[in-house]
This record gives sequence, C-alpha cells and structure tokens, in this order.
Amino acid sequence: MVKVGVLALQGAVREHVTCLQAPDVEVIVVKKIEQLSELDGLVLPGGESTTMRRLIDKYEFLEPLKAFAASGKPVFGTCAGLILMAKDIVGQNEGHLSLMNMTVERNAFGRQRESFEADLMVTDVGDDVRAVFIRAPLIKEVGENVEIISKFNDEIVAAREGRFLACSFHPELTDDHRFHQYFVKMVAQAKLKGVKSV
Ligand code: GLN
Repeated sequence: MVKVGVLALQGAVREHVTCLQAPDVEVIVVKKIEQLSELDGLVLPGGESTTMRRLIDKYEFLEPLKAFAASGKPVFGTCAGLILMAKDIVGQNEGHLSLMNMTVERNAFGRQRESFEADLMVTDVGDDVRAVFIRAPLIKEVGENVEIISKFNDEIVAAREGRFLACSFHPELTDDHRFHQYFVKMVAQAKLKGVKSV
C-alpha cells in the first residue's frame, strides 16, 4: 500500500485522483502542509504555474514542498506542475521548487496550438500514450542526469530525473492511466528502498 498525494491548491486535482485510484494506492487530496508527512509520493497538477506559486507562497507551502522532495520521495508534475519542478524557466530569474535539472519554456506552442491531443511514445510507459496539451510548456534543455522519456515533433515533452517525473501534457485528462501507474511504481520502489522521513 502506498499513499500518494495530489497538491490541491489549484488545477486538475480530481482528475489525478481518479487516475491514481487502485487497490494498492491510497490517494490523499493535499490542502494542508501537515498532510505531506503521511505521503510516499506527490503529484503536482496542471493549472497555471504563476497562480499556483502565489498560492504556494500564501499557504507557506514552498519550504515544506522542497523538504518533501529532498527527503527522497517521488514527485510527479504535469504541465504547470512540470514548470514548478524545473530549475530554469525561460525569461524568469529563478525556478519555483527547482527540483529537476532542466530548462522549460512556458506556453511554448503559441496561440495556434493552444490545445491539442496526440499519441506519444513514452519510455517504459507505452507506445501510444494519449496526451492532452493545453497551453503547454516544453522542455528546452536537460542536464546530464535527466532522462528524456518522450518527444513530440522532436521537442522534449516528458523527462525523469531519478525520483522526479514530469510531463508537459495532461495524462490525467484521458482514460489512459499508464503514466500514473508508472509513477505509482516509482513510489512503491522508493518506499521499498526506504527513504528518510520528512
Ligand atoms: N500555461 C500554464 C503555465 O504556464 C500551464 C498550462 C497547464 O497546466 N495546462 O503555468
């Protein structure tokens, strides 16, 4: 049994909860800092990264989230969640949680392609993973420890760095739950290996 939280300050929370639900997973909607201590893994949903950051600051979540990530527990960010996880954001002086060694560009598809769907190859997840892109960011550069796990039109749209997983699209808006199952596996493995408590 693993406990996986979904940060519920803003964005597509309910959809992630649905995708994570499984007999061996307890899903927790995280609204308070204290809830982080009971989790084995955390999902940062999509939404609007600037709004999310404002709410993170308002409810003083920044340091507790950084501590959670530093404790060795897996974190999965989708879309705005990916932006929160990147060390560098094009046009900004600094990242938010700065967990993954990568540079992201917000709203990278421009107005013509505000929102669209595609089937993607994602390493260790599937050859035809349904992806919904909504004002999506792109990963423009990755550091050496970051594994690129999916590309769309030659651009990086999903990556993993150890226990950190991020994608620029919304797997939670489809019936395809394989991306979430992959994350749950990462959480179970990290739990088995034993991590420092927060
Ligand atoms: N464009 C949003 C941002 O910059 C992300 C969009 C999304 O999460 N669907 O935060």
